[in-house]
Amino acid sequence: MVIVTVHIVEWFQTHNFAIIKSNIMESKIATAEGGTIAMTKQVRAFGTAAPAGQLKQLNIQRRKPILHDVEIEILFCGVCHSDLHTARNEWHGTIYPCVPGHEIVGKIVNAGSHVKKFKVGDFAAVGCMVDSCRECEYCKEGLEQYCEEGMIGTYNSTDPHLGIQTYGGYSESVVVDEVFVLKVPENLDLASTAPLLCAGITTYSPLRHWNIGPGKRVGIVGIGGLGHMGVKLAKAMGAEVIVFTTSPSKIEDAKRLGADHVVLSKDKDQMQRYSGRLHFVLDAVSAEHDINAYLKLLKVDGTLALVGAPEHPLPVAAFSLIPKRRSFAGSMIGGIAETQEMLDFCGKHNIVADIEMINIQQINEAYERLLKGDVKYRFVIDMASLKK
Ligand code: NAP
Ligand code: ZN
Ligand code: ZN
Repeated sequence: MVIVTVHIVEWFQTHNFAIIKSNIMESKIATAEGGTIAMTKQVRAFGTAAPAGQLKQLNIQRRKPILHDVEIEILFCGVCHSDLHTARNEWHGTIYPCVPGHEIVGKIVNAGSHVKKFKVGDFAAVGCMVDSCRECEYCKEGLEQYCEEGMIGTYNSTDPHLGIQTYGGYSESVVVDEVFVLKVPENLDLASTAPLLCAGITTYSPLRHWNIGPGKRVGIVGIGGLGHMGVKLAKAMGAEVIVFTTSPSKIEDAKRLGADHVVLSKDKDQMQRYSGRLHFVLDAVSAEHDINAYLKLLKVDGTLALVGAPEHPLPVAAFSLIPKRRSFAGSMIGGIAETQEMLDFCGKHNIVADIEMINIQQINEAYERLLKGDVKYRFVIDMASLKK
């Protein structure tokens, strides 16, 4: 056990990053006077111990809030397909036990003495990141997701405070530096806002980056959690939106979500109708599929941005790109300032996700349904169920 004096602990608390560098893993620090100061607290969570394991209730350690931290009681957490990819180690590198969840909305129950943006009782949200180096060129540009040191993910990163893995939102509470905490627009339903923190920003950011707006014809591929947000956001930005889905049952829904046209992607004739006609395609498919079929929909200088992250590589034919000077790009979530901008945009346009609320005890069944494309369009966990 680390032996420190009360003075040193106070010094840690006034020098936030001293704790980060100190790598304290004990839940209590013994003081020279023989007492102990609790640095972490145990909270209930849901996670998995192995790739093939079911998610079950477990206990995790959260740090107690220090100067710039807020402690958030989690009310709702969205279920992203990335949670499933990570829980099952499909991208490799999952650290177990793994507690997923990065679409978090809750209430602030505790705040460090230097917190300025929030007060106890405020609603707040956390997305896919909880920190970054804050000093590299990308962090300074507000692109913390591309931090040169690597962003600190809400789950499955190394927690610089405790030295263990970060744990996500399938839990009672989370402690985050206020810089990485977002404000929730007052007019939006809290549960349906949770998916904006990943599905919303991951589709908003590329739509903005590639200047989508009036006069642009945009294809959205894969109408799951991300795709359905992509349709709503691209429409609100003023684009003409064409949905490409493998699911006949989603045709009517896609129109309700705002699509101008819907194409069943398995139908070659319907696909041919849009060949060479789109300015931009956003691909949000979670599994293997023929990317060339979508590249061919682009006009000269058009871009296909991949946000979906299937487990295996997608082969690209040279002649899907060369003849029309097409670009094949990728995009990862969005920076903190842009995430707030997206939330404010959604507040202004009254945009939230279409959700199906579940209890945490239904999470394993929800993952199986996600694999079948059987969700309209985002599961959101009512975290009160964790207390049952
Ligand atoms: P989701 O809700 O499961 O939706 C995926 C959709 O892809 C399905 O609804 C389905 O749409 C389509 N699809 C599924 N299997 C398919 C197949 N075999 N062939 C063709 N289409 C298929 O997943 P999500 O949460 O939206 O996430 C989508 C992907 O984005 C995941 O890989 C996730 O990890 C990734 N992601 C990336 C980022 C990032 O920063 N880039 C952030 C979050 C998530 P239809 O029924 O309409 O065909
Ligand atoms: Zn996600
Ligand atoms: Zn950085």
